[in-house]
Amino acid sequence: MTVWVEADLCNGCRRCLKACPYGAIEFSGEKASVLERCTSCGACIEVCRQSAMKSDIRPRSVPDFSDRKGIWVFAEQRNGQLAHGALELLGKARQLAAELGEDVCALLLGHGVSQLAETLIRYGARTVYLAEHEALADYRTLPYTDVLEDLIERHRPGILLMSATHIGRDLAPRLSRRVGAGLTADCTDLEVDPDEKILLQTRPAFGGNVMATIVNRYSRPQMATVRPGVMEAHQRPGNEGRVVTTPVSIHEKSIAAKLLGAVREKKDAVKLCEAKVIVAGGRGVGDAGGFRVLEELAEIVNGAVAGTRVAVEEGWISADRQVGQTGQSVRPELYIACGISGAIQHRAGMLNSRYVVAINKDPRAPIFQVADWGIRGDLREVVPELVRQLKSEVRQA
Ligand SMILES: Cc1cc2nc3c(=O)[nH]c(=O)nc-3n(C[C@H](O)[C@H](O)[C@H](O)COP(=O)(O)OP(=O)(O)OC[C@H]3O[C@@H](n4cnc5c(N)ncnc54)[C@H](O)[C@@H]3O)c2cc1C
Repeated sequence: MTVWVEADLCNGCRRCLKACPYGAIEFSGEKASVLERCTSCGACIEVCRQSAMKSDIRPRSVPDFSDRKGIWVFAEQRNGQLAHGALELLGKARQLAAELGEDVCALLLGHGVSQLAETLIRYGARTVYLAEHEALADYRTLPYTDVLEDLIERHRPGILLMSATHIGRDLAPRLSRRVGAGLTADCTDLEVDPDEKILLQTRPAFGGNVMATIVNRYSRPQMATVRPGVMEAHQRPGNEGRVVTTPVSIHEKSIAAKLLGAVREKKDAVKLCEAKVIVAGGRGVGDAGGFRVLEELAEIVNGAVAGTRVAVEEGWISADRQVGQTGQSVRPELYIACGISGAIQHRAGMLNSRYVVAINKDPRAPIFQVADWGIRGDLREVVPELVRQLKSEVRQA
């Protein structure tokens, strides 16, 4: 595909020069010419009032996807425990399904996991496709990809959602490549375009400075991964749903790799994405010792300790405690932000908190803009005082 200039029509206005994002237009005298670095993006064609910019780019036609129906959710499970993110996705899928007039299906893969289907139905699945096989007992990329590819080919869904967990981040790209579909990773919001009836997939871009909405017009299913903690899980009234046991076909070479063992990382008792109360600390906490006081506060309110990227980079807390764009998204009832400025990348992970309390000595700190209650002061005085008062409340109760 090429773009060229009809020299006779060019009046030298230089609109194309300004519009070209690739610096691929050059002027000699009053006439434009197109350089080799042109990517045929068409920006110059749109702005040229003389119709001097010509191209052989043909508008891409949208294939007929009328046979693509249904919103699918990959029901991630480990050791027979459903990931909470899968239930959150079912909540969102129901909302999308209502707008599209389609059904929600869950894909449950594993070995001896059929009892989980009931929960999936309770949280929104009308159909649960159940694939059970020894090779699916523990997650492995290739057997899981084989089974999902086969299901997609047979049932032809319109949308497929996965959690952006370690498993989802591994599986989704592999599967999207196999079925020739686009994939938007790490979405923070999903909506349906009311006119085109396609999925609007929103995620942070350019270091979190803008939110980009991505659409997938030319392939199906429309695939997206969504960060756990961003959507809400809701049980639905009524329990109608069916379980369809699906035949499992796994390529021989996909089971050649054997899992020799799994070493589970020791996690804190309270999971961040499920915590009702989170006490989070930032640079203002000062050092690892400062986090001891935050831990004390968290213990009294039965909460979990988290922090900013700075706190992780300083080694004051472990990486799995980071909240934000490159950390976790959380949805607690109460988020207590101590010595956190409230940078956009941090806020991206905690904006779904029901109530936010901010403790900061700088009254202009952006965290106060999203806080329900702000305490202006030195956290080294405020937090111990909170601990003292809460302890005395607990003693009196
Ligand atoms: C691509 C990208 C991704 C990122 N992802 C994340 C992410 O996932 N999570 C994240 O958190 N950040 C992320 N960041 C970093 C982010 O931009 C900020 O740099 C970071 O969140 C700031 O952390 P902070 O609030 O701890 O530190 P600062 O911004 O330095 O703020 C410290 C605050 O503590 C206050 N303070 C200092 N001393 C005291 C005291 N004694 N008492 C009370 N208040 C005090 C100060 O007034 C200040 O407001 C990312 C950045 C980029 C570019």
